[in-house]
Amino acid sequence: MKRVYVETLGCQMNKTDTEKMLGILETLGYQEVEEPHNPNDADLLIINTCSIRQLSEDKAFSRIGTWGKWKKERPELKIVFCGCVAQQKGESIFKRAHYVDLIMGTHDINNFPELIKRIEQGEKVCANGETPIAEGDYKLKRAKSTNAWITITEGCNNFCTYCIVPYTRGRERSRTPEVIFKDVKEALEAGYKEVTLLGQNVDSYGKGLDGNPTLAYLLREINSFEGKFRIRFTTSYPTDITDELIQTVVDCEKVCEWMHIPMQSGSTAVLKKMNRRYTREQYGEIVKKIREKIPDVAITSDFIAGFPGETNEQFEETLTAMEEFKLDYSNTASYSPREKTVAAKWEDLFLSEEVKEDRLKRLNDQNKENCVASNKKYIGREMEVLVDSFDEHKGIKINTGRTRNNKIVHIPYNDDLTGKFVTAKITGMKTWYLKGELKEIL
Ligand code: SAM
Ligand code: SF4
Repeated sequence: MKRVYVETLGCQMNKTDTEKMLGILETLGYQEVEEPHNPNDADLLIINTCSIRQLSEDKAFSRIGTWGKWKKERPELKIVFCGCVAQQKGESIFKRAHYVDLIMGTHDINNFPELIKRIEQGEKVCANGETPIAEGDYKLKRAKSTNAWITITEGCNNFCTYCIVPYTRGRERSRTPEVIFKDVKEALEAGYKEVTLLGQNVDSYGKGLDGNPTLAYLLREINSFEGKFRIRFTTSYPTDITDELIQTVVDCEKVCEWMHIPMQSGSTAVLKKMNRRYTREQYGEIVKKIREKIPDVAITSDFIAGFPGETNEQFEETLTAMEEFKLDYSNTASYSPREKTVAAKWEDLFLSEEVKEDRLKRLNDQNKENCVASNKKYIGREMEVLVDSFDEHKGIKINTGRTRNNKIVHIPYNDDLTGKFVTAKITGMKTWYLKGELKEIL
């Protein structure tokens, strides 16, 4: 058995690509190993990179520096640099890290078996073509979890002016309902208790496919599969959320009451510069409609602080939007210019690091306030929790899981209930989680 270690940076798309690579490598006789500490601990080292912000890109290069030194000691060690940075930077990575054997972009992942064989024979290869290679029939080696991620769309057509995704992941492509249903069935048969349909903009699923199937159609079909399990989907684009989709969440008992709808900014003027196709008011109306139709729904979001040219007043509109729309939780980041994107060319409008950091801090403070307000609502309620981990903390054994609306709950209990649905009474809360008391194992 050859040994492989994969380090995955970035989003769920990358994590899913890693599951695909590990599935392929298993068929090629590789066994996954824990993080190596010396050159003899693995035969193949893979870094799956993220380029959403400069920080993530820098991390990839700093990480593989050690691997380069190991390769001097053990030349037969193979190193793969793949993912979004590989797609974007291609051949130039060899100049910065000459010891890399394979540079593989996101579009070439379905050619991975062939590429691995070539480097095993001593070739140095760069594969970062612009056209995605057709999907093969490989099984994913899914991460141990209660949730299985099921990709429904790849790429993105939105071209938000700050975002590198359309350049690293290409144009939007939808996978057919047949392959999606097959993946879901396999995951359920393997014991997963939850499936999350994944894409950059899942609401636009189906464009270009025969019969124009929709996300609502996928959800209704999967909802009819046998067994007790949960269904989630992410990420939603505000103005692409249809009434049919909202009604589907209401109608389908397995589809959970959680929607991730990034707003990015609370200022209509900034949204326009970001090329987001909605105003502050439209976002608010969508959120209001969803809350009216779906009881207990949690709505989470993403925000960027310090977009080029953002005034302090415009930034304050983001804080008030978070508060006004009662967003349950938000991912936050300060703006990072990305090569090739439109906003990266507006250098004279860039804000200083100090201003961006200050705004990010204020954004995070508002986010905490929102989370506390959101969590308080559930104290005293009984909620269904799917347990996904079991740990000991200060001598107390804790089962941790999520409610249907994606709230984290800590339940003290001596036995490991991982993979089980339970009912918990919510007895307290912290900023990022609820405290529960076990009532029933379902
Ligand atoms: N498709 C999703 C959407 O419509 O928002 C999100 C995809 S992106 C991988 C995840 C988040 O990264 C975005 O929502 C955005 O807030 C953040 N992001 C993207 N580009 C960024 C940049 N240049 N600087 C800071 N944050 C960025
Ligand atoms: Fe990036 Fe915008 Fe596409 Fe999301 S919708 S991936 S932010 S371009």
